[in-house]
Order: sequence, then structure tokens, then C-alpha cells
Amino acid sequence: MEQAKEELLDWQGHGCSVMELSHRSKAFIEVAEQAEADLRDLLSIPEQYRVLFTHGGGRGQFSAVPMNLSKESASADYLVSGSWSSAALTEARKYLQVNQVAEATIVDGVKRMPDRGDWQCDPKAAYFHYCPNETVDGIAIEQIPDTGDVPLVADMSSTILSSPLDISRFGLIYAGAQKNIGPSGLSVVIVKDELLGQARKQTPSIFDYQLQASQGSMFNTPATFAWYLAGLVFKWLKAQGGVEEMQRRNADKSSLLYGCIDSSDFYLNAIHRDYRSKMNVPFQLHNPELDKAFLQQAEEAGLTALAGHRSVGGMRASIYNAMPVAGVQALVEFMQDFERKMG
Ligand SMILES: *Cc1c(COP(=O)(O)O)cnc(C)c1O
Repeated sequence: MEQAKEELLDWQGHGCSVMELSHRSKAFIEVAEQAEADLRDLLSIPEQYRVLFTHGGGRGQFSAVPMNLSKESASADYLVSGSWSSAALTEARKYLQVNQVAEATIVDGVKRMPDRGDWQCDPKAAYFHYCPNETVDGIAIEQIPDTGDVPLVADMSSTILSSPLDISRFGLIYAGAQKNIGPSGLSVVIVKDELLGQARKQTPSIFDYQLQASQGSMFNTPATFAWYLAGLVFKWLKAQGGVEEMQRRNADKSSLLYGCIDSSDFYLNAIHRDYRSKMNVPFQLHNPELDKAFLQQAEEAGLTALAGHRSVGGMRASIYNAMPVAGVQALVEFMQDFERKMG
């Protein structure tokens, strides 16, 4: 953001802002291509994958995926680990048959996914969709499901670039930009070549992967300024040491916070240890009557945006790549202070 501010009015001596450049200008195409090259570097994206910079956010892909990867008569597998994968399933029902493979369940008071042996997979599914990090629920599925010949599709909106990833295991990955990439209004799709060219004929052109791939994501005007900002974030990530360094920091941050929660009788996280998210840490106070005081005093201490999602309540700390370790340390100190005072 500092760099963007610095060059907002006069980008690289052009005498204008990036947002004033035509998306078809040589200058912007260089920005766009550099961003893609840096993302490819960061995630070691193999050559046989296209990278699209598209519109419509994460939810746009809830519809684009079935329209591009299935016929109307087909069925697709959906693994439901929380509210986003559940929303993806609901949207997909408009376009094809949906088979819910498994669902997060509460066993002995802790939430977890059923064991793989208990998933009801369909070997003929058009694709298998899951969400490796459930942003609202704080549930993560770290181990990549083995789906055999069924293309694996992942909603990585809240976890992309937080750690290294074996892209070759996936048919398609998508992510709304606003959590770990950059500003809202942009989404990134990484799709294997062999899945292109199967879109249903009524698929809106702007959502047709093949068309967008053939036009360099410029079939219509892309979100140019968001794309440029995403490019700056990719450069920043590389300068920090890439996704390996992010993985280290994210592990440090999340273990600090879970450690604080687990070592107290005042706070609680009800997700099974094997499925805890490193990006979104929901927690409750054993006495929910203190929620309001917690949030208010946190705000006064400069710790903001800690209210849980409106659908679940309680607290949630979203500790994306942009959150430094010092931010989590400050939160943990505040939590320990609050417990001493109120506990
Ligand atoms: C935020 C989020 C979305 C929704 O993204 P929009 O850009 O608002 O459509 C979808 N999936 C996951 C996992 C998210 O975290």
C-alpha cells in the first residue's frame, strides 16, 4: 500500500495512475504479465495450468465451476466442512446433481471431519469440490483428498499463498482476492488445460474459462487496479521469502493463539486439533456474557475486527499473511490480561 500510495498519481513516469491506463496498453499488459509470472513462481504453478484474473469473487466461481466442468445430466461431489463449502453446494444444485460426500460433525463436543473411509465418493463425479480452509468455521483440511481420476476443485479464498501447495494434485483452484491476495473485486482461477473447452453453451462469456484463457483474462475489462495491487503483494511475498516463509510465520502465529486458548479455562476453541485453521481462529469465552466487554476493550486496545461471523457469534481472529507475528502477540497479551481481570 505504501508503494501504491507513492506511485498513485504518477506511475513509473507515465504521468498518470495505473487505474487510468487502458487494459490493452503495453504498460498495463506488462503489469498483468508480471503479476502472473510472480504468482506462478510463488506457487510453482506447472506449465499446463492457466491462471485467470477474473470477476465475480469467490461466489462467482460457485456457479462458474459447474457451468464449465459439467453437463446438466452430470453429478458432482461436494465435501461440506463449513459454511462456504455448504454455500458452494447450494449454488451448484442449480446446475447439476450434487452428491454430498461428507459433512463436518461434532463428536464429544469437538467439530471434525469424518474419516476418509466414511466419505461417500462417486467415482463418476464430474469433479470433487472442497474448501481447504473454512473462513467462518475455522476448519481446515490440510491433507489434499485423493480423488483418483475425478478432477479436484478447491475454494482457496482464505488460504491461498499461506503455504506451499502441490498444484499438480488439483484440476482447478480458485480464490477471491480479498483475504490473502489483495483488494476485493478480483478472483484468481488456476485451471488445468485439459479442463478447458467444456463450458455449457449458455455459460456467460465472462465466466467461460476457455474464452478468458484465450484472451489473457481480457475478454472484457478486468479489474486493472486490483490486478496491479495483487502484483505488488506477490512481489512483497517474494521479498519476504515466499510461501515457505509465510508457512513458518503462519505456524508461529496460529500456535501462539491456540496455545493461549488451550492453556486457559476462560477461552475455548471447539475444533478438533487435526482440523484447526491457521488462518481463521474462532474462539469463545466460557462465559458469553463477557463477549461485549471483550470486544469493546479489545477495540480500545487497538485490536479490531475480532467479532465472530454474524452466523456463529463469539470471536474470530483472522490472521492472514498480512498479519505480523507481533499482532498475534499483542492479541495474546490482551487475552491474558482480560482473563486475569475478569476470570
Ligand atoms: C470470502 C469467501 C468466499 C466469498 O467470496 P466473495 O468474493 O465474497 O464471493 C468464498 N469462499 C471462501 C472460502 C471465502 O472465505
